[in-house]
Amino acid sequence: ERKAALAASTGPGATSDGHKVPLLANVGGPADVPAAVAAGAEGVGLFRTEFLFLDDSTKAPSEEKQVEAYRKVLEAFPEGRVVVRVLDAGADKPLDFLTPGDEPNPALGVRGLRSLLEHPDVLRTQLTALAKAVEGLPVYLEVMAPMVADRIDAKAFADACREAGLQAKFGAMVEIPSAALRARSILQEVEFLSLGTNDLAQYAFAADRQVGAVSRLQDPWQPALLDLVSLSAEAARAEGKSCGVCGEAASDPLLACVLTGLGVTSLSMGAASIPYVRATLGKYTLAQCERAASAARAADSAEEARKAAQAVLSGE
Ligand code: PEP
Ligand code: MG
Repeated sequence: ERKAALAASTGPGATSDGHKVPLLANVGGPADVPAAVAAGAEGVGLFRTEFLFLDDSTKAPSEEKQVEAYRKVLEAFPEGRVVVRVLDAGADKPLDFLTPGDEPNPALGVRGLRSLLEHPDVLRTQLTALAKAVEGLPVYLEVMAPMVADRIDAKAFADACREAGLQAKFGAMVEIPSAALRARSILQEVEFLSLGTNDLAQYAFAADRQVGAVSRLQDPWQPALLDLVSLSAEAARAEGKSCGVCGEAASDPLLACVLTGLGVTSLSMGAASIPYVRATLGKYTLAQCERAASAARAADSAEEARKAAQAVLSGE
């Protein structure tokens, strides 16, 4: 049955009535590209560039080394799109040369875009390397910043991209509740949003993503998280811009249908999940996904939300 589902699962992501939802891959570097291509990913929705910085946590990799790695990923999707996230250091991804070692709450400290704005040379090198890597390639490059809190952050990132001469769309990750609440204001500075549901859940529920004891609160079916997704997707729709999901939430086939119903415009996940998400999404109409999304949001717990969406989609 599993094999049959996978065999039937080819082509672009879409609901049964043809509403397109590009299915993209999360990759950590060139080594993840073959699996993404094999799964039929329509591109990359989250290229976590941290891998490049892990070899030596005392300094940033050279521009040449970065150009080479970025180009390998960009080349693999000639007609597709590749969304590169600039370095997300700090908290669960510390780097000696960037991350302050004395923060009482590293997840609430200088991490993600915040650390890049404190080290503009590191951001500049990364953006320049991306500009060079994409030269002459037909790929559709998008670049986004992690941990954008407000419009000031979004503008600082967009300014840095423009200063580096980057020919790409600039976007903001929505991982902090303030960004979801004021998504329209952030969209005055950038062209797209991408929801990082792992961190968005962590910050919405004050539940450390690395602490198993609070994992109940990290469940992406939490109705409050769905509300934040909905706010972001609605804001993007109102601004005529896109809003994808690149957190773990997108890899759950049923939740992928709910996210689609909430108005999310693309889903990015580990390559292994793509065939399952594609097969499940292809079973339901957009209207069914919307009804499932409303039912899930009306629930009072993650478990009830999942059951409510399941009931709608199975026609109970
Ligand atoms: C997220 O926070 O959901 C996300 C996609 O980024 P990361 O897991 O790398 O923090
Ligand atoms: Mg994150």
